[in-house]
Amino acid sequence: MARYIDAEKLKCSIDSETDSIFDWDMTIEELYYNLCKLIDDEPTADVQPVKRGTWENTNTPNQLRCSNCEIIHFIAQYPHGEINYCPNCGARMDGVLSE
Ligand SMILES: [Zn+2]
Repeated sequence: MARYIDAEKLKCSIDSETDSIFDWDMTIEELYYNLCKLIDDEPTADVQPVKRGTWENTNTPNQLRCSNCEIIHFIAQYPHGEINYCPNCGARMDGVLSE
């Protein structure tokens, strides 16, 4: 299973641990091992997988169904066409309309 870490915190850890992970006399393999250990020691970030979906046409005009949660939305609620996310489940709608 994937484990997510905060890239910015990792860079801070590398900066603060430079003296202990890097030495001019070490080999590339030793440096690689030290960096891997530093990455392994980074705490797991609190993240959530991105939900993805598409807006599906319904048989009713001006209504679309979220393919992720199946709730039906009225297109008129999005006068500026800002329907990139499902307001119910948060799914990212980066697909195309499906029939
Ligand atoms: Zn949804």
